[in-house]
Amino acid sequence: MGNCCSQGNATDAPVNTDDNNKGEPTPENTNDRSNNAGGNANPPSTPVKPSPSASPPPSKGAKVAPIGPVLGRPIEDVKNTYSIGKELGRGQFGVTHLCTHKATGEQYACKTIAKRKLVNKDDIEDVRREVQIMHHLTGQPNIVELKGAFEDKHSVHLVMELCAGGELFDRIIAKGHYTERAAASLLRTIVQIVHTCHSMGVIHRDLKPENFLLLNKDENSPLKVTDFGLSVFYKQGELFKDIVGSAYYIAPEVLKRRYGPEVDIWSVGVMLYILLCGVPPFLGCQKLREELLLTESEHGIFNAILRGQIDFTSDPWPSISPAAKDLVRKMLHTDPKQRLTAFQVLNHPWIKEDGEAPDTPLDNAVLNRLKQFRAMNKFKKVALRVIAGCLSEEEIRGLKEMFRGMDTDNSGTITLEELKQGLSKQGTKLSEYEVKQLMEAADADGNGTIDYDEFITATMHLNRMDREEHLYTAFQYFDKDNSGFITTEELEQALHEFGMHDGRDIKEILSEVDADNDGRINYDEFVAMMRKGNPEGQPKKRRDFG
Ligand code: ADP
Ligand code: MG
Repeated sequence: MGNCCSQGNATDAPVNTDDNNKGEPTPENTNDRSNNAGGNANPPSTPVKPSPSASPPPSKGAKVAPIGPVLGRPIEDVKNTYSIGKELGRGQFGVTHLCTHKATGEQYACKTIAKRKLVNKDDIEDVRREVQIMHHLTGQPNIVELKGAFEDKHSVHLVMELCAGGELFDRIIAKGHYTERAAASLLRTIVQIVHTCHSMGVIHRDLKPENFLLLNKDENSPLKVTDFGLSVFYKQGELFKDIVGSAYYIAPEVLKRRYGPEVDIWSVGVMLYILLCGVPPFLGCQKLREELLLTESEHGIFNAILRGQIDFTSDPWPSISPAAKDLVRKMLHTDPKQRLTAFQVLNHPWIKEDGEAPDTPLDNAVLNRLKQFRAMNKFKKVALRVIAGCLSEEEIRGLKEMFRGMDTDNSGTITLEELKQGLSKQGTKLSEYEVKQLMEAADADGNGTIDYDEFITATMHLNRMDREEHLYTAFQYFDKDNSGFITTEELEQALHEFGMHDGRDIKEILSEVDADNDGRINYDEFVAMMRKGNPEGQPKKRRDFG
């Protein structure tokens, strides 16, 4: 790696000169969920084994903890549940330590953000949004998973999946630069991640090699993106104006305060340039380099970016393939409208060379969730609806944003046409028939449109329901007389309540769920049904790089 990057530390920290537009939606009525803001339903009254991934229920008999001003949930000491170990890394806002879940011995990473650094309302909102966005992106294979969020008197702690392989930044430095083939493979993964974020309505806004982590120390370790501290939810056509990002990677339109998701592609274009030659693009040009090394200020880098002059003449560029240069140019197009989208990058000939089959349909998280929902029996759908009602605001915030993005006429319901448009804007082409099927699946009450609750239920990530306290709450909801069993009558009543009973299903459901054939459903049978065949819970094929 060239020396420009190592100098980068001085200028590489994210800048955040915010003004009013934080991409925040207007405040709205959230009464429907506010009574569950902590995300924890009451702990089950009968002994049930908490699953290790579940956030711990508040301990019994403890005094009611005050609500923390940042996360809006009870103050809770992370050290009650985790022991904190050595430092793993630090960025502009947080210090990350290794931590161990005391009960299971499993290792995680804990990012600690000191509250004294959160000086105004916007800073607090940023942390809140970081948590919401990580919840929203849960289950995506190349995105660091959030396990839990804690707030104590002095800090906010985000407990995440551990990436023991360190930063991609360090690996690039160790390697100098990559072969085209290895760079293409790595880029494919990175752009797929960007596509996932964009299709879930999220702009990362701080993509750079420090924020890509390796899951383990293997040469071909899976890659994960982290640090959603500057990320925002966006809707189609929405423009942002706050200047955020890290100097080398910031897109020109950010500096002009009018931008959208294209900024992520620019940042990845800069990363690609560095992967191929070892130095950032806007320090490459000899004249600029002299000029900039003298000043070495963000100002100088920004000027170079605005001029958009990319150096393809210095070594090793003459020996790099024309296709690679073509892609770099198209990702670093100064006009965001002409810059390639994530989808287009994935279809560029260079990235496909030696690569996987071209034109494979892209993973679309929302679509996958809708398809899974479609495959469920009616009882499970109703149970999911009950659980969706227990989720905290932060867990469903992203889906709420998506709903609002799709509901273009603000009617509070999504029509077939809106669903079709919404999915196609995310780069998913579906036949009329397929969209109709998904529509019918999500439209629980069969009135021809999807309302807010139906949308959340059908698109929430399934590991949200896989929490013991949620499952138990749902079971109790159905077991009206508290007998410990859901009877045929209770099942019938529940399906009726949600407009899903057409007189045919009860037998079918019972034969599927009632393992001991006693004509009613006990708690174990209920849990088995809920956990059965949730493909998103199974590890997905990961794209590696070498
Ligand atoms: P900041 O917002 O301060 O930049 P980051 O989320 O980027 O915070 O974390 C700072 C650094 O901590 C990262 O660059 C990385 O070195 C380390 N780190 C963050 N998350 C993890 C993780 N899940 N596993 C291992 N290390 C991590
Ligand atoms: Mg960071």
